[in-house]
Amino acid sequence: MRAPRLARAAFAAAVVLAGGVACKATLTPGGLYDLAKGIKDAKKDLTPENEYYLGRSVGTKILSNAGYRYHDADGWRSGTLSGMTAYVNAVGNVVAFAALDAPRDGDRPAPLAGWHFVILDDDSINAFAAPGGYVFVTSGAIRNAANEDQLAAILAHEVAHVVRGHAIGSIQKSRMAGVTKQFLDSSVELDPAVEKEMAGVFGGSIDDIVDGAMVKGYSKDTEFEADKVGLEIMAKAGYDPKAYTAYLHTLDDHQDTGSGGFYATHPKASERIGKLEAQVKKHKAVHPPQVRTERFLGATAELR
Ligand SMILES: [Zn+2]
Repeated sequence: MRAPRLARAAFAAAVVLAGGVACKATLTPGGLYDLAKGIKDAKKDLTPENEYYLGRSVGTKILSNAGYRYHDADGWRSGTLSGMTAYVNAVGNVVAFAALDAPRDGDRPAPLAGWHFVILDDDSINAFAAPGGYVFVTSGAIRNAANEDQLAAILAHEVAHVVRGHAIGSIQKSRMAGVTKQFLDSSVELDPAVEKEMAGVFGGSIDDIVDGAMVKGYSKDTEFEADKVGLEIMAKAGYDPKAYTAYLHTLDDHQDTGSGGFYATHPKASERIGKLEAQVKKHKAVHPPQVRTERFLGATAELR
């Protein structure tokens, strides 16, 4: 599997921002230098390399916010995922492949370093995605799924956020504008003031994304788009579209008791179900083979 080997780079605390930006513009392609060149609209101008760079920084911040409690940390470091993490990554990659197989107008390009599906050790029900194919799902969200098709639904919603560029859409437009010209004017050497400002802009972009995905949440319309696209993605991958609304029904049952996390960042499950019903009916019924549910229960047994 490709993803685990690359994950080492991804989760090495990659925040060069913390220490300021290198003075000379000799950073590798995809680093701050490329990120700064002429970017006015993050959604239009960011390359896959830029997204990879931003995504791993956002991912590091998300892990740090979660107190670095995530499944199979040793496996991520050594590039040999196992157990539940390997399983969730296998399902996630099937879903992600289906997403990239039939790109829609406005979809982001394929993530430069593949997809990473990280399980956070957290009882609450939650999932979020960073740019560049970094998806985070809590053990609570997986525990509440009844079968592989429902897990695929959770992951498809997050993959949809990534391919539709929702995370980079949360970068405040004003951030990029001022710094770009100064950066280009400064040829090779950056004076310390510009350097400091750049660090602020990029650090701020990362904060914007984390804020959008984890704290404030996206707009209702953005969530409805992720549902619509997510449902199509999972159906294309061969999963049962009804599992998407079935999982939302489970969330709806918990809505009264759940607070924060997912419930703070997503519209009411009942509202989401209402928006999806007609779309589900357009798809042929899928009867998941028993083996699929068995492997789900086997791979996630540690959560029960
Ligand atoms: Zn969402």
